[in-house]
Amino acid sequence: MLTALFLLLLLFGALALAYVNASGRTWGLAMAAALAASWLVHALPIALNLLLTAAFVVFALALAVPLLRRKLISDGVLSAFRKLMPPMSQTERDALEAGTVWWDGELFSGRPDWRRLLDAPRPALTDEEQRFLDHEVDTLCGMTSDWETTNVHKDLPPHVWQYIKDKGFLGMIIPKEYGGLGFSAFAHSEVITRLSTRCGTTAVTVMVPNSLGPGELLLHYGTEEQKRYYLPRLARGIEVPCFALTNPSAGSDAAAMPDYAFVCWGEHEGRRVLGLRVTWDKRYITLGPVATLLGLAFRAFDPENLLGDKEDLGITCALIPAAHIGVVIGRRHMPLNAVFQNGPNSGKDVFIPMDWVIGGQPMLGRGWGMLMECLAAGRGISLPSSNTGMAMLAVRGVGGYARVRTQFKTAIGKFEGIEEPLARMGGNLYMMDATRVVTAGAIDQGEKPAVLTAIAKYHITERARQIINDGMDVIGGKGICMGPANFLGGAYMQHPVAITVEGANILTRSLIIFGQGAIRCHPYVLQEIKATRDTNPEQASIAFDAALFGHLRFVISNFARTLVMGWTGSHFVAVPAEVAPDTRRYYQQLTRFSAALALLADVSMGTLGGALKRKEKLSARLGDILSLLYLCSATLKRFEMEGRQAADAPLMHWAIWDAMFKAQSAFEGVISNFPNRVIAFALRRIIFPLGRPYVVPSDRIGQEVARLLIEPSATRDRLTAGTYIGVQDDDPIGLIERALHATVIAEPVEARLRAAVKDGRLDGSLPPGAGIEVLADRALAAGIVSVEEARALLAQRELVAKVIRVDDFDKDLGASLLQPALDTVRPRPVSHRAAA
Ligand SMILES: Cc1cc2nc3c(=O)[nH]c(=O)nc-3n(C[C@H](O)[C@H](O)[C@H](O)COP(=O)(O)OP(=O)(O)OC[C@H]3O[C@@H](n4cnc5c(N)ncnc54)[C@H](O)[C@@H]3O)c2cc1C
Repeated sequence: MLTALFLLLLLFGALALAYVNASGRTWGLAMAAALAASWLVHALPIALNLLLTAAFVVFALALAVPLLRRKLISDGVLSAFRKLMPPMSQTERDALEAGTVWWDGELFSGRPDWRRLLDAPRPALTDEEQRFLDHEVDTLCGMTSDWETTNVHKDLPPHVWQYIKDKGFLGMIIPKEYGGLGFSAFAHSEVITRLSTRCGTTAVTVMVPNSLGPGELLLHYGTEEQKRYYLPRLARGIEVPCFALTNPSAGSDAAAMPDYAFVCWGEHEGRRVLGLRVTWDKRYITLGPVATLLGLAFRAFDPENLLGDKEDLGITCALIPAAHIGVVIGRRHMPLNAVFQNGPNSGKDVFIPMDWVIGGQPMLGRGWGMLMECLAAGRGISLPSSNTGMAMLAVRGVGGYARVRTQFKTAIGKFEGIEEPLARMGGNLYMMDATRVVTAGAIDQGEKPAVLTAIAKYHITERARQIINDGMDVIGGKGICMGPANFLGGAYMQHPVAITVEGANILTRSLIIFGQGAIRCHPYVLQEIKATRDTNPEQASIAFDAALFGHLRFVISNFARTLVMGWTGSHFVAVPAEVAPDTRRYYQQLTRFSAALALLADVSMGTLGGALKRKEKLSARLGDILSLLYLCSATLKRFEMEGRQAADAPLMHWAIWDAMFKAQSAFEGVISNFPNRVIAFALRRIIFPLGRPYVVPSDRIGQEVARLLIEPSATRDRLTAGTYIGVQDDDPIGLIERALHATVIAEPVEARLRAAVKDGRLDGSLPPGAGIEVLADRALAAGIVSVEEARALLAQRELVAKVIRVDDFDKDLGASLLQPALDTVRPRPVSHRAAA
């Protein structure tokens, strides 16, 4: 009995120490105390006591004396590790070491410090940035139309190009001292978001020069001379930049590009100078056909050893004027009928002087590191913002449409079947925008969170795709017939572009998020890898020893935490007191999932080693867990930042339940497919000892979210705050908005009419072809409605007729496509057919 009690106490004591990640010294003291107690009260048989005491003394000596520990344990593990580690190329190293670790590190720690997230400042615009958004951005939105741009000009019209250049849109990230607007990442993101709610071509045209390209590369790596010359020209649009990385044989694996350059002497502006003879073949290059300045990535070689004894210098970035002799540029691709400028370019043996290399000769071969470093931040702004914009457009437009469009005498948005996609749209958008804002805020705080920006890129573009698909289903034929009245068809067609660029999504999910996350965000793995590369044996031994034993305690702690939090349903996890009461459980569950992720990641890396890189499905699911934890964190942060708006709570709850259910499924996916079935069995018992706590968001929450989308409210405004809503009749979103407001006014009047018909006060029989106007006249005469109410009814019907109409054309689509497009320039009558 005493023995059993003692062993139980021992077990609980060990779990408690592991749970708090106690230091080695605390473990040693606790074990010594346990042994002493055992001797004192005779809790264990004497022989066992003797054996345990001897084992303790040996282990304590081995572990407590660092030199002994290293010689006996760490050095052996280190040499095994060196043999196991797959060789790593410089480009892989550059990619792994790029950027910084922020909240992703906390999520990987198994015990996220929520205060760190909650204390992060709320991103805000300066007065100047807000003015720009309200004036220049709105003006630009008003000047552009997706239909006209795409079908009439096949490009932005010249006056729009000029406005973009004149107002500094191309230089938002360029500091003021170089003539740019010097905007924050958040302001940059807000601009792209709003432009994307109006015209995709405008958004991409503005986005690209502010993204990874000549401007950003010059800012970080350019020589002062290069900066002084180019940055003011880029800021004012005197130069239009593009950046060419992708080669026909090197897309996702861009570092394998065959484009090359040889260091050599050549003739430039009448002088013999040292430079590079470059040969390249690039495709898909955005703004390429109109660019005046070509940023080019190629691999540089020095076969004649003009610079030293290294021949393969590595990937290099240079700036080449598009008009330079030998540059072949100007032809266009047609990316899913989108008309932003995009095309191939090439050159053969084109000589460029060395000072065209970004950063000059010292930066030869440093191109990949430069690109990865810039991508680490930039990937979190462009696509996340443009896709949030597209999603806002869809939610605002589709929500309104679902209220004004009636079938079976009911607004379609009130059918349960439609509520489901509407709920997904609202919940997803709330989470996407939260992620966009929190990520931009982190960048403004000086972070370059490579893993979080990859997460933002992947998950925001995937959710935008889901929102657009859902929206298309809700609006039916209205989304299918193309024309100026279709507000969603263009986004539906062109959305795969977002999935493909800046890291194609499947690759990003399968290889980057967890692959990079496990190494960068893990508190010890990068230190261990660095130690294996250290050529100084003593230094390597010391560093590896520290990392290894930290890592061991980390694993034990996460094991204990996962088990304890699983058994207790995480009810006892401490949460900062200031969080909204109805979100406390989410913080607790996220902490539990964070510990489980850390444990699962270590078990996966420990048992699969380098093979995990090829087990992309497992890696993708592990990445999904990390991603969903980040998306949930951002959502909770948004809820707090916006002052815990009670009316917005359904959006937050839906988003968290959906994401937690998906995270739980991802855990299940890893465990079910784990190659070692014994470990899989144990993992399931440790991570979900009492079953899986999450189910899909309830129908009740879903209905609440759907109702928020079809009703004008402050919540709907907050959710779609970035949307441009035009007053002109050719703006389909503005039109839906007016129809929605008219419908909200008209609905109770209509209800009164129906009641009057039902109780016989009003004759409801209508002659064929007669509409509401007849009923309204009768109701007016009978004193059932006022003049204003009758007018409101008619106005609503007229607006709804405009909203539900779709464009039609002459039989010869090609020629007549221009007709409605040109019509959009001036206000048009109710419908095309009516006008005829
Ligand atoms: C409209 C548009 C604009 C662009 N703009 C530019 C630009 O301005 N500058 C520039 O340099 N490039 C640009 N690109 C190129 C873009 O970055 C590439 O298209 C992208 O890198 C993918 O390359 P790929 O199209 O050759 O696809 P591939 O590399 O052939 O990939 C095909 C599929 O395989 C998947 N895949 C590849 N490797 C793996 C893996 N290891 N595991 C799992 N899945 C994998 C990918 O995710 C993708 O789904 C643009 C492309 C487009 C379409």
